[in-house]
Amino acid sequence: MLPIRSNIRAMAGYVPGEQLNDPDIVKLNTNENPYPPSPRVFEAVRAALTGDRLRKYPQPLGDTFRRAAGRVLNVDPDGILIGNGSDDILTILTRAFVPEGGLIASPTPSYILYKSLAELQGARFEKVPFTPDWQLPGRWPTGAHLTFLPNPNSPSGTVVPLAEVERLAAAVAPAPLVLDEAYADFADASGLELLPRVPNLIVTRTFSKSYALAGIRFGFAVAAPAVVRELAKVKDSYNCDVLSLAAATAAIEDQDYFREVRAKILATRTRLTAALPALGFEVTPSHANFLWCRRADRPVKPLYEELKRRKILVRYMNYDGYDGLRVTAGTDAEADRLLAELRSIL
Ligand SMILES: *Cc1c(COP(=O)(O)O)cnc(C)c1O
Repeated sequence: MLPIRSNIRAMAGYVPGEQLNDPDIVKLNTNENPYPPSPRVFEAVRAALTGDRLRKYPQPLGDTFRRAAGRVLNVDPDGILIGNGSDDILTILTRAFVPEGGLIASPTPSYILYKSLAELQGARFEKVPFTPDWQLPGRWPTGAHLTFLPNPNSPSGTVVPLAEVERLAAAVAPAPLVLDEAYADFADASGLELLPRVPNLIVTRTFSKSYALAGIRFGFAVAAPAVVRELAKVKDSYNCDVLSLAAATAAIEDQDYFREVRAKILATRTRLTAALPALGFEVTPSHANFLWCRRADRPVKPLYEELKRRKILVRYMNYDGYDGLRVTAGTDAEADRLLAELRSIL
């Protein structure tokens, strides 16, 4: 065996959701958008497909994207860091802030990638349980070099109010609080509004969910410009390619299309939230594009397996025995299929 670092050999490695290539499958397991990206994305990518654009390196900091996103989100473009998906941003943040032997803290049950990032870095990882109603505990551990809080959270789809986010940021200061807003576009509030007065806050976003670009890989962070200048040293020089930059810029500039798609997804979420309890599920009210579904009367893993046999893929999640199904809000037709199959199984 080659001398791979012992922390790498000791770790299991992050296992992403199943990506089946079968086009017949109703895919409700990794929270992709069921609708295509804006037509303007296709135009922009086609326009970028010239010999000259492909031959040359892309903008290292994505300045055209930063200007567009700065305008739409009303933030300073110099406070935006681009990433090859927001997972790339989370890696950059870990490398920048967490020394070997350092500490990362995150609530649980939550996004499991954070633990893998700690293991890769040779850092310790502390899970802090959410309260039973998915809020932050009264006391948060001190001494973490980095704290991750997904808001809305996955798998619950719940949110922590911004006042609590601000309180947590103060509790962990001067270390950063990373607010992972992968699903914030489906919620009512965003931590972006806290940035001007909370200097240790870093907000991350992705184009994989609300902008329907999971296949393109694009995400970004918003933080104080002085912080972004340091983070830019950590990232690969050209971590986003010409095509993903063109796609992301066109997508964020088409806010009319974005709002139209968002409204459809929220309507389907409302429908599923109403229909699933009638089938025996306990559904947590969601602020994201998915629903966390549990049952008191029977195990849910066989339901996941039976749905998969019937070509409906949902995500079975198990956190040390606390388990459930995380179901993406797809199109209305997909929701109908899901409900019909569940009725037939149950
Ligand atoms: C999907 C997701 C991400 C990652 O998104 P990518 O941009 O596709 O890497 C990050 N955080 C959470 C909580 C997510 O669910």
